[in-house]
Amino acid sequence: MRRVFVGLAFAGAFACASPPPVVHYPQAPSGPVVSTPAQTPAGPRAAQGPFQPDYYLYACTPSFSNRPETDRSGRILSYNALVVVNNVILAAAPTNGACMTSGFGPRFGRMHKGIDLQARPAVPIYSTAPGRILEVSTQTGFGRQVLIDHGNGVYTRYGHLAYFSDGLKAGQQIGFGQPLGLMGETGNATALHVHYEILTGNYNTSQKSWGLDAHNPLDFPRWSGLDGVS
Ligand SMILES: [Zn+2]
Repeated sequence: MRRVFVGLAFAGAFACASPPPVVHYPQAPSGPVVSTPAQTPAGPRAAQGPFQPDYYLYACTPSFSNRPETDRSGRILSYNALVVVNNVILAAAPTNGACMTSGFGPRFGRMHKGIDLQARPAVPIYSTAPGRILEVSTQTGFGRQVLIDHGNGVYTRYGHLAYFSDGLKAGQQIGFGQPLGLMGETGNATALHVHYEILTGNYNTSQKSWGLDAHNPLDFPRWSGLDGVS
C-alpha cells in the first residue's frame, strides 16, 4: 500500500506542485559497509540521525560558477538525493532546504573541489553516510571542517561550519544523518554556506586528505533503492 501511495504522490508533483517524495536512507543491516576494517574497531553501528535528504535540489540564482543544468524552475536535473560511490550509499547534499550557490569545477583559476549550498537562516549540516570521523578541525581555508571515512575508500568533507555539534570528535563512529554542526561562514568563505566534498582514495597520516581525489557529487549514479519512488 505504501509504495502505491508514494508513486501517486510523485506523479502529482508534475501535475500540480505536490510535495516531493520523502527519501529514506536504507536501514541497517541492509545498508553499506560502514568503515575500513583495518582502521575501525568492531562495534555496533552508530545510530541513524534525523536527516531525510531533499528529493530535489535547486540552484539559488540563475548564474554562478559551474552551475549545473536546471529546468525552468531552477531544479537541478543531475541531482539525485542518494548516490552510490564504491558501494557506499551517500546523500548528494548534507542539508535540508538549501540551494546551490557554486558547482564543482574550475573556479577563479583553481579547482573548486566541492559544491556550495546556502540556506538563510543557516541550517544543520548532516553526515551523508555512516562512517568514522577522521577530522574535526579548524583550517585556514575550510574554516571549521569535518572529514568522515565511510569505508571502501570513500570520504566526505563539510566546510565553513559555524560550530560543531556537542561532543563531535575524531575517531568516533557516526550514523547516517547525524548533525555535525551548523552552516556557517568560517575560513575563507565570503558568504554563509557549506562546502561539501565527496573524496576517494586512501587517507594517510602524512598526506591526510590532500592526497584524495575530489568528485562532483552530481556525477554519481542514483541509488537504485530510489527507483521505488520514481
Ligand atoms: Zn566550496
